[in-house]
Amino acid sequence: MRFVDEFRDAEKAQALAAQITALCEPARHYKLMEVCGGHTHTIYKHGIDDYLPESITLVHGPGCPVCVIPMGRVDDAIAIAEQPDVILTTFGDMMRVPGGRGSFFDSKAKGADIRMVYSPLDALKVARHNPDKRVVFMAIGFETTAPSTAMTVLRAASEGIENFSIFCNHVTIIPAIKAILDSPDLRLDGFIGPGHVSTVIGCRPYDFIARLHAKPLVCAGFEPLDILQSVYMIMQQLAGGRAEVENQYSRVVPWEGNPKALAVISEVMELRPYFEWRGLGFISHSALKVRDSYAAFDAERIFEVPGVRVTDPKACQCGEVLKGVIKPWECKVFGTACTPETPIGTCMVSSEGACAAYYNFGRFSRDRVKEAIRT
Ligand code: SF4
Repeated sequence: MRFVDEFRDAEKAQALAAQITALCEPARHYKLMEVCGGHTHTIYKHGIDDYLPESITLVHGPGCPVCVIPMGRVDDAIAIAEQPDVILTTFGDMMRVPGGRGSFFDSKAKGADIRMVYSPLDALKVARHNPDKRVVFMAIGFETTAPSTAMTVLRAASEGIENFSIFCNHVTIIPAIKAILDSPDLRLDGFIGPGHVSTVIGCRPYDFIARLHAKPLVCAGFEPLDILQSVYMIMQQLAGGRAEVENQYSRVVPWEGNPKALAVISEVMELRPYFEWRGLGFISHSALKVRDSYAAFDAERIFEVPGVRVTDPKACQCGEVLKGVIKPWECKVFGTACTPETPIGTCMVSSEGACAAYYNFGRFSRDRVKEAIRT
């Protein structure tokens, strides 16, 4: 298939759904986690849930980069933005993420110079055009976006741009999946593997999921038929008593990943001993920091960063949503106190967040309606 509408063919989707249903054992219930927020978005946007038999439940994982940023890091970034002559640059999604002291939008309204950019190179351009200011890029994302941040640091170094730095919040996907597998709250049968991250890290790092936890993982693309085919591949494994890593998204994901992207990350960044994830707590070796050799571009060494830990609001259940323990609508404030306009938690902010996807597309889905009828 070459064109996007071919990946959205309803007849093919129905045929795949029938094949999936045929693979389900009677009286068995299957729980599959889609790790990536992009998959969550596709699932709700295209109603994939409704194609699947009732014995298969899709739960959402921690793969939305905005969703996992803890409140304390937002506060730290605001503290940097409030220092003299600073321009803080960030992606648009981050602007509304609530911290303990409000969001970037709130801080901007109070006078901080916080600007939206589309890429780290845009942030570098801001630095070039404002030589009398200190320009900081709030870097977020998994291994998918870390290479572009690292390349930008290398570009800044090669051009001798001294007023540019990054506030590094890049996280790594494997420790988060490990934390979920170790969580006693959750029993999973398999994983729809993250497509974007895998373009960089490849499929091999997921081996432990099959080997040590005996669960299948299929790296999946982002169109409706990609997701359905991935579910079919997982179900084939389960029906055959296999647990392997497979690559449905082979048109984009190389099995060995992208060695050049990995090399550039490794040149500029190294693993932190630990990092706090929103709702998941501290996970060791789960994030990146700037290496000593590029300290001149590390905002955490240039500025005073308070580094305070801020507890999530009591009503917020983002942690349970990010671990797939509850569905977004099971959070007490979903769609009432917490909406995309007035987010309490991060999962309602980014379009990749499970709560935002569910709010925008899935509010009237099968399980929600059933639950409403029951209560
Ligand atoms: S509804 Fe809001 S507070 Fe509840 S889990 Fe979702 S984002 Fe978090």
